[in-house]
Amino acid sequence: MKQLSNRIQALSESATIAMSRRSRELKEQGIDVISLSLGEPDFETPDFIREAAKEAIDVGYSHYPPIPGYADLRASIAKKLKRDNNLDYKASEIVVSTGAKQSIANVVLCLVNPGDEVLLPAPYWVSYYELVKLAGGVPVVIPTSIENDFKVSLEELRAHHSDKTKLLIFSSPCNPSGSVFEKEDLAEIAKYLEENSQVMALSDEIYELINFDGINHSLASFNTIKEQVITVNGFSKGFAMTGWRCGYIAAPQWVADACTKMQGQFTSATSGITQRAAKAAVEADPSTVSFMVEAFRERREKVGAWLKEIPGFKTNQPKGAFYFFPDVSALFGKKIGERVISNDEDLCFYLLEEAKVATVPGGAFGDPNCIRLSYASSIADLEKALTRIKNAIEKLEDA
Ligand code: PMP
Ligand code: GLU
Repeated sequence: MKQLSNRIQALSESATIAMSRRSRELKEQGIDVISLSLGEPDFETPDFIREAAKEAIDVGYSHYPPIPGYADLRASIAKKLKRDNNLDYKASEIVVSTGAKQSIANVVLCLVNPGDEVLLPAPYWVSYYELVKLAGGVPVVIPTSIENDFKVSLEELRAHHSDKTKLLIFSSPCNPSGSVFEKEDLAEIAKYLEENSQVMALSDEIYELINFDGINHSLASFNTIKEQVITVNGFSKGFAMTGWRCGYIAAPQWVADACTKMQGQFTSATSGITQRAAKAAVEADPSTVSFMVEAFRERREKVGAWLKEIPGFKTNQPKGAFYFFPDVSALFGKKIGERVISNDEDLCFYLLEEAKVATVPGGAFGDPNCIRLSYASSIADLEKALTRIKNAIEKLEDA
């Protein structure tokens, strides 16, 4: 009998990837779609990183690397964590992978048993939910709201805690809300972890460098709970290296060892050439990529102003990453002809068909009142896209 496993049948396709695939298909049919769906910097990888990769090819980095990554790359990552985050990790506590996504998968599969509960403050990044399900875990979604800048509080964490809670996963800067957890916000999470020493936390800091107001605070910098924290980071966003596939964790030794064992069966290490490129990136002063952050800042200002002009869109001011996550629930129930916009998905499909702009429904991130727009596109495309969205929304009528 040809039958896929229950596991894969229960897994949903990544909504971010599904929407970008759909817009690519429409583009291939000659339709002028602007995609604000995928979170991917539109810059090329900086030259000094590419040069390091070329050199790696020439000197023969063509063999299987050690599973957790080359020792000198892990040592450089440990130095970076001290330099930028004031975190003390030994190189042995770092595991390099084929992207932050694989790092998260490693951690979830290594920590979560069937039936274990995993706290996901919403909005969360799409893959957290599906990876927890894949491990047989139970995602426990904690709703937050635009009024408190989508940040989870100590009270909310306590209210969703049970004796089955195993792990908490969150990102800061946050995909999709763009919120940045300040030291006092992290202190609430740290307090919750102090109260529950059996709970682990995965702090996803992949957008660390795309932070408009200052330095990134790491949850692991709270010494009392450092042994409960796994820090995830990588190169895709800050260094525009999405296609190179490199990420890492810094974690207590027992978690790092488990992830190395998992990776040894799944993928082995990421490409040696990518690792040499990553080493150049991680050793560079972060100011070498600040030109990208400045470009994102300018786009944030412009897109924020354009969004304010759109009726029914309620927006917070994102402090990091490159997304807006407007609350569009005021539009639910409106219609055009016979077509009723009942929810986030209806709105995204309407925008795709009418405005030819691809966005992602907020439900995929656990908040169906919102939709996500990525502003990692040129200002010209953003202006065109936001004008088209405004025109499409202005056509909607009360039911
Ligand atoms: N975490 C978050 C919050 C992300 O947005 C992404 C986007 N790709 C990832 C992890 C995965 O990054 P990578 O490309 O390094 O796998
Ligand atoms: N993280 C990006 C996003 O959220 C890329 C897509 C993905 O890796 O799923 O759009």
